[in-house]
Amino acid sequence: MALRELKVCLLGDTGVGKSSIVWRFVEDSFDPNINPTIGASFMTKTVQYQNELHKFLIWDTAGQERETFSTLKNWVKELRQHGPPNIVVAIAGNKCDLIDVREVMERDAKDYADSIHAIFVETSAKNAININELFIEISRRIPSTDANPPSGGKGFKLRRQPSEPKRSCC
Ligand code: GDP
Ligand code: MG
Repeated sequence: MALRELKVCLLGDTGVGKSSIVWRFVEDSFDPNINPTIGASFMTKTVQYQNELHKFLIWDTAGQERETFSTLKNWVKELRQHGPPNIVVAIAGNKCDLIDVREVMERDAKDYADSIHAIFVETSAKNAININELFIEISRRIPSTDANPPSGGKGFKLRRQPSEPKRSCC
């Protein structure tokens, strides 16, 4: 089975739950007293997606600011300008379990995500809602190896050169 490495970088303000999302995805647990990330941390998890293994290499950063939705828009601008052309952007509206203190309406976030062709899911690292789905969506959106052969090593067809004489094999 082919193994693909998917590099994921979590961006967002301090306290939005980036480390908790990674922890839930990698360890399937939640620590309400999680330590603030200093600098950046790195974790990996390999999951099967269709007939491939996807190894997520996850960089979890220490955000600094605190004004969620507008900061997100600045990050997206930076990514579009300086990121690779086939980058997959996913927006997680985390802490969806805190229904009484919602700050961004789901419709607004969804409309924004659609306008920039980004994945959008409301998640809860605490209650394990949509965390796996978030990463599955990333797997789904990553261009398939068939579109970028051949370094993935997975089934691409070797064609005989037209001028090459036919040889019988074995
Ligand atoms: P980071 O700074 O973005 O990495 O955020 P953390 O993962 O350190 O989480 C900040 C705080 O939010 C911690 O107290 C977490 O326990 C809490 N938290 C994270 N995710 C959730 C969630 O889905 N629901 C709730 N209610 N709290 C969460
Ligand atoms: Mg953190």
